[in-house]
Amino acid sequence: MNKKIVIVGAGVAGVNAATKLVDNGYPGELITIIDMGKDPYNRLPEEVMTGFLGAGGWSDGKLTYHTAIGGQLSKYTGEEKAMELMDQVITNFKRFHPKPEEVQCSDPHEEPEFIKPYFGLRLFPVWHVGTDYLSEIAKNWYDYLVSKGVKFSWNLKVTKIDFNLGIFDVESNEYTTQQDCDNCTGVYDELIFAVGKSGIDFAQQLAQQYKLPDEPKSVQIGVRFEAPQEHFQKLIDISYDFKLYRKFDDEGVSLRSFCTNNNAAYVAVEETYGDLSYNGHAKKDPKYRNNMTNFGILMEINGINNPFEWSRNVVNKLQFGGRGLYYSPSRTPSKTSEGEEINAFQIEFLDGVKEVMGEYWNYIEDFIEDMKKVFPTLKDDWGVYIPEVKYLSPEPLVYPSDLALVDYPDVHFVGDALSARGITVSGAQGILAVSKLIKKEDAWDNIHGDIVHW
Ligand SMILES: Cc1cc2nc3c(=O)[nH]c(=O)nc-3n(C[C@H](O)[C@H](O)[C@H](O)COP(=O)(O)OP(=O)(O)OC[C@H]3O[C@@H](n4cnc5c(N)ncnc54)[C@H](O)[C@@H]3O)c2cc1C
Repeated sequence: MNKKIVIVGAGVAGVNAATKLVDNGYPGELITIIDMGKDPYNRLPEEVMTGFLGAGGWSDGKLTYHTAIGGQLSKYTGEEKAMELMDQVITNFKRFHPKPEEVQCSDPHEEPEFIKPYFGLRLFPVWHVGTDYLSEIAKNWYDYLVSKGVKFSWNLKVTKIDFNLGIFDVESNEYTTQQDCDNCTGVYDELIFAVGKSGIDFAQQLAQQYKLPDEPKSVQIGVRFEAPQEHFQKLIDISYDFKLYRKFDDEGVSLRSFCTNNNAAYVAVEETYGDLSYNGHAKKDPKYRNNMTNFGILMEINGINNPFEWSRNVVNKLQFGGRGLYYSPSRTPSKTSEGEEINAFQIEFLDGVKEVMGEYWNYIEDFIEDMKKVFPTLKDDWGVYIPEVKYLSPEPLVYPSDLALVDYPDVHFVGDALSARGITVSGAQGILAVSKLIKKEDAWDNIHGDIVHW
């Protein structure tokens, strides 16, 4: 327990990794977390992607609890270990929650008859924390880690990592004081690379630089759908975060509703590479209630060459005047929970969108048309924010025991930077990555050499 551990990214994965270490007696003074965002006391609501707890910090806080949801975990650990790791993440969120009894679980067991002719429904438990409590959790969690001696460097972006020498460079931003950046090169014995979606270009750059072997990924693109909640209430009563899905195996396309937010549900704007895309979150406090529902309608498209570049190009073309798009047959865009306009340009016709997305747009249109049949009051009372996108990082080849790169065993890729797509899986990967460093009984000691092959 004397290695200097550097965690790049104070998101869900990085924070759970640090917590696992200090909970098991690892000296906090040997752990440094570097993040290009701000600490939870200074992070602003519009800073959706960066800062303490990362994209999870202003998310909806839906903690999904199933190995088929939220990205890859069980392929590294097996089912049982995966569930146990996710349990640890959920326990952490409850532990730092000011009112843990308010974390509700939705756990549907049966697909309702009324959706069956048109959609399948994924059945899995989900705990809902809520965006407003997340920032309270973040403060309590941060204070705990600081009290254990963990060192945080805020507003610093890691720009280079030399995997051979174990050194890295950081760059300051407008918020960094000179003092913070006096020493802009650092060293590590073990590096946890936990940069999430906001660091995906950096992950790509390193993958190319070090020729990391990886697995081809799919494109994940679609829209954020929004409508008054009443239209979907009969399904929400069964499943808070309902996942409607359909598959077109022959065409390499599947669709699912994704990350449903209800009651006090707001559309969130994400900025990646200078382009806007959309997501959603929901608050718990009844004062924010707007009786709206929003969810992604996401297509998974397989077989596209260079899916990352393809997605970036499509997202870039779906912008107007530096804003994403909003289309509705009858509505105007909603407001954020702070009462601000959602940054989206309203379009009257979908021709331009169809031109950019080609035949893939038809899948989305059909999905909406069929929802109108399943939820008959919906009619034209809906709108879509275009696009919603999940950039999937190339998934480098790692040892399943601690998610270390096969060629650089002191560098661990975790969270959305590896193969996760949600909070519980990202956190669980963070915990898995450091379990061997504490050498406790729950370290999953599948010795190096047991490489996952695809
Ligand atoms: C609006 C919104 C709502 C969501 N809702 C849900 C939900 O309800 N349930 C769910 O399961 N998932 C949800 N997600 C997804 C979830 O938040 C992510 O899957 C999860 O946060 C990924 O964790 P991570 O630690 O890998 O990355 P992140 O949490 O994104 O953290 C990465 C951190 O790395 C930092 N970083 C990046 N690059 C660098 C660099 N070069 N140098 C220094 N720091 C860097 C960033 O500042 C960031 O803080 C949501 C996401 C968004 C944006």
